[in-house]
Amino acid sequence: MAITAAIASKRDGGELTKEEISRAVSGFVSGQVSEAEMAALLMAIFLRGMGARETADLTMAMVETGEQLDLSAVGGPTADKHSTGGVGDKTTLVVAPLVAALGVRVPKMSGRALGHTGGTIDKLTTIPGLTAELSPDRFLQQVAEVGVAIAAQSDRLAPADRLIYSLRDRTATVESIPLIASSVMSKKLAVGAQGIVLDVKVGSGAFMRDLRQARELAEAMVAIGERAGRRVVALITRMDEPLGRAVGDAAEMVEAIETLAGRGPADLAELCEMLAGHMLAVAGAAPHAEEGRARARAALAEGRGLPTLRAMIAAQGGSATALDDPAALIGKVEERPAYPPGEGYLTAVEARAVGSAVRDLKEAVGPAARAQCGVLLRAKVGDRMEGQPAATVIAPCGASGALAATVERIERALSVGPEAPAPAPRLAGVVGA
Ligand code: URA
Repeated sequence: MAITAAIASKRDGGELTKEEISRAVSGFVSGQVSEAEMAALLMAIFLRGMGARETADLTMAMVETGEQLDLSAVGGPTADKHSTGGVGDKTTLVVAPLVAALGVRVPKMSGRALGHTGGTIDKLTTIPGLTAELSPDRFLQQVAEVGVAIAAQSDRLAPADRLIYSLRDRTATVESIPLIASSVMSKKLAVGAQGIVLDVKVGSGAFMRDLRQARELAEAMVAIGERAGRRVVALITRMDEPLGRAVGDAAEMVEAIETLAGRGPADLAELCEMLAGHMLAVAGAAPHAEEGRARARAALAEGRGLPTLRAMIAAQGGSATALDDPAALIGKVEERPAYPPGEGYLTAVEARAVGSAVRDLKEAVGPAARAQCGVLLRAKVGDRMEGQPAATVIAPCGASGALAATVERIERALSVGPEAPAPAPRLAGVVGA
């Protein structure tokens, strides 16, 4: 099937018809449209954009390449969440079991790493034995029995997204509002939760660098969800420095467990409480997000999400000893300190640079040991630096060359100044619900 005319039309700034979009997407999944053709179309969309109708048509075309789940039998209100991608963002691993412990069913389909951002599935699968490959039937059964499942994208749900996602990662077409909106919302609509909370990241470490773009993305996704009859709210949250103190798959899983135990870093706990509060509200389990947030805060402090995480890990075949000794997930590693460029207050920890450095370190050590790579932030923006390291870089033993190169990159990501910067509120805006 030739889609040359559609590529040319978008290249020249035209509007694609529903039929053209549907033929391109279904043809790509069936193999009739080649990777080269799809890559060209994605680049044309990246450069020329899409209108609201085209973005909605693209989303529905992606949903229609697979099954749509029927959540009516999971026994309770349902809520889903999705982040547009950040560095150190392990909120799903905290919020999904937490909200399930508070009585809302959470069917969560998550992705792998994209660009400089980490992937929830890469973090979750650092737990020995755990599988994220759940068939739709097993996924639904687990949500009904445990209250929560976090699964990798199934070939049967929005398969177009998995293929397009991977192609975008290889063709520098990630940072596009219609492509991100359709990617996120196709998965959310295929899974079918009634309430959806979106975490739209904004800042130097996010795909959307400025607030105007982030709001546009949030509005696009909320509009798609509302058109499909879902209750959707998008929180626009800052992503300039990494979230929490850990970046790297195993290190982030450890931090998520610590946060569920009430011992998490303040910025991560704050965002988790916000997201969980909104999830309870969109699911109708709390009268409003503030009440939901208060419940989430109390539940985090009491460690109430941990038994649910334990049950979820067991249901997915993982070893629950991860919860008894989380540090064992990282294993034996080499550690090197990374220093800021002088004394003063830490004014920046460039999230994008940190995310890219960890991604390249993982690449350098190879697939078997990549989960052990990471950066542990000893200091956060605003902290006083008096000669101590701001971070520790970790890598599996025997990767000294790659480790040293990563330390240099992390040091370049740090800035200090004579005064502590004024703290920016985490929440930069709310769209919808
Ligand atoms: N998350 C997604 O699921 N898709 C994107 O394109 C970006 C973030």
